[in-house]
Amino acid sequence: MALDSKIPSGPISDKWTSYKDHINLVNPANKRNLDIIVVGTGLAGGSAAATLAELGYNVKAFCFQDSPRRAHSIAAQGGINAAKNYQGDGDSTFRLFYDTVKGGDYRAREANVHRLAEVSVSIIDQCVAQGVPFAREYGGLLDNRSFGGTLVSRTFYAKGQTGQQLLLGAYSAMNRQIGRGKIKMHNRHEMLDLVIVDGKARGIIARDLVSGKIERHSAHAVVIASGGYGNVFFLSTNAMGSNVTAAWKIHKRGAFFANPCYTQIHPTCIPVSGDHQAKLTLMSESLRNDGRIWVPAKLEDAKAIREGKLKPTQIAEGDRDYYLERRYPAFGNLVPRDIASRAAKERCDAGFGVNKTGEAVYLDFAAAILRYGADQARLKHLDENDTALVIKLGTEVVANKYGNLFQMYEKIVDENPYSTPMMIYPAVHYTMGGTWVDYNLQTTIPGCFSIGESNFSDHGANRLGASALMQGLADGYFVLPYTIGDYLAPDIKLGTISTDSPEFEAAEKNVITQINQLMNNGGTKPADYFHKKLGKIMWDKVGMARNEAGLLEAQAEIAQIRADFYKEVKIPGTADSFNPELAKALRVADFLELGELFAKDALHRNESCGGHFREEYQTPEGEAQRDDENFAYVAAWEYKGNPSDAVLHKEELKFENVKLVQRSYK
Ligand SMILES: Cc1cc2nc3c(=O)[nH]c(=O)nc-3n(C[C@H](O)[C@H](O)[C@H](O)COP(=O)(O)OP(=O)(O)OC[C@H]3O[C@@H](n4cnc5c(N)ncnc54)[C@H](O)[C@@H]3O)c2cc1C
Repeated sequence: MALDSKIPSGPISDKWTSYKDHINLVNPANKRNLDIIVVGTGLAGGSAAATLAELGYNVKAFCFQDSPRRAHSIAAQGGINAAKNYQGDGDSTFRLFYDTVKGGDYRAREANVHRLAEVSVSIIDQCVAQGVPFAREYGGLLDNRSFGGTLVSRTFYAKGQTGQQLLLGAYSAMNRQIGRGKIKMHNRHEMLDLVIVDGKARGIIARDLVSGKIERHSAHAVVIASGGYGNVFFLSTNAMGSNVTAAWKIHKRGAFFANPCYTQIHPTCIPVSGDHQAKLTLMSESLRNDGRIWVPAKLEDAKAIREGKLKPTQIAEGDRDYYLERRYPAFGNLVPRDIASRAAKERCDAGFGVNKTGEAVYLDFAAAILRYGADQARLKHLDENDTALVIKLGTEVVANKYGNLFQMYEKIVDENPYSTPMMIYPAVHYTMGGTWVDYNLQTTIPGCFSIGESNFSDHGANRLGASALMQGLADGYFVLPYTIGDYLAPDIKLGTISTDSPEFEAAEKNVITQINQLMNNGGTKPADYFHKKLGKIMWDKVGMARNEAGLLEAQAEIAQIRADFYKEVKIPGTADSFNPELAKALRVADFLELGELFAKDALHRNESCGGHFREEYQTPEGEAQRDDENFAYVAAWEYKGNPSDAVLHKEELKFENVKLVQRSYK
């Protein structure tokens, strides 16, 4: 089946405005007759819910946490991009568009990315108007910093808490609408199925996580904003609760799942410390603005460090390998994440890793502290040859920029990162894949939309730093609230959708059957046991580097774990009460299906691009080797029962405004 991405014809910059004009035809009074369910109230869902309610729709919003403020979005540290060109460094809408398409290794839909770049500037204005406390320069203007894959400073930030501040903005806007009665908020509710009536999404089945009650909720359209599925790897930087269930349930009802194998492995995370860990911690990419990444140049030094006989500060400058600066002189430490991650792996695999397991590299601020300190000494007319003073002044500057991140590192690792380099290693962080959507953000199920990290998004095979918040808020504040009207316009006289229908009954039964099966199977092992096993296979065989043999093994092994799970999982307690183990098991069940499709997708894509690195397809320098002739498409999978039976549909990617070339950051 050829996928219709519904991209309007004409020059790229007209495409977006033509949609806005169309939407303006919808009488605002009619929106009061229309109900919209929004599943997820993170940055994407929260901003969408608030805006839809502001426009006049009746919104029913759902989240599994006890408050929208606890969505995973709160964890976003580094910042949000916008092509404002406040630094006068030559930024523009086109440049942001171009950087994003190139950063994604030419596997994103051009028109979507251009729209994203266009609305990026409005997001900042919107958030400033809400009172989001973005960092400012001394004179009061909004400050910017740089993120990977760009040569301009376009990232707006609020210390290391950008996601939290943006989420509070969206949450405040939502709360206003909750107060007005335009949003009905359902906290601690988990969507467990989608209800389709006459071919259209008309509601959901949700479980009240506190009482265990199964509920029916109807609407004229359903918006999924349920975040990413990085936790399929068990260990990731995602919040512990992040899961694929909502996206997977709509997939099982007919929504195609696109590019599931495109995963972002973030280069700057605190390395794994042991078998009993359940979570990995990100050290924001913003640290790469000032931190220099290195390993010892000599194998014997790396070995001595691993054995505790040498300290990093004892390695002379000439004996260090600043491998990113060496390999990519133009972008240096600010190469995109996929490239930085692979380069770290390459050095560690070659024996230069610096922690006990040999899977860590250094992120070092000593040079930045000296540079900033000398600057400050000069500004304050102090002695710039006084090293102790320079270090003190430089430390203050670094603390002002990244203080909370340094504090977090020290609390976890128990080492002072101002005086000794941090140790970092790549970890699973973000999923570029997700539900396939057309230009209007509608899935292949009419009336079912998907926004934020849960859709297959605008990032192609690799997302640039600070672009997820931009995409989530673009979708939520500026795209979906307008495009959804296009779909809803014919429904204004339809009236409330009844939940008393065979379709609701069947979907509800489906959920209850699965819960009963899990509760009553008499197994002995907790859900985490299976999740960990899945995660290990995903990391070892479907992780940073993949090959055909490993992917084939992974598919078979995951199918086996899934079969074992249904036989052996044990869920204590009852289904009609607060039961976090049951909630977890339901999510793990979906991860166990997604994982197999993930491996199947990675296996079929016989090329390397962005975060998808197939060992068989690399350049002599070890860079990703794309195959544009055969793989310049979005792989959208249709559910057919078992993940192994999923059917592939292709959306060809046409590039009219950028030229396809081998990515280079040298
Ligand atoms: C540590 C970390 C730091 C990051 N830093 C940055 C950064 O600096 N800049 C940047 O651009 N990006 C960053 N990202 C990425 C970014 O945070 C996410 O991509 C983004 O916040 C996702 O927003 P979202 O609204 O799509 O999903 P989320 O914030 O994950 O929200 C998902 C929502 O869906 C709800 N939900 C899910 N499933 C169900 C269900 N079945 N039923 C009911 N509700 C459900 C949840 O309750 C929640 O409300 C970072 C990511 C991590 C992990």
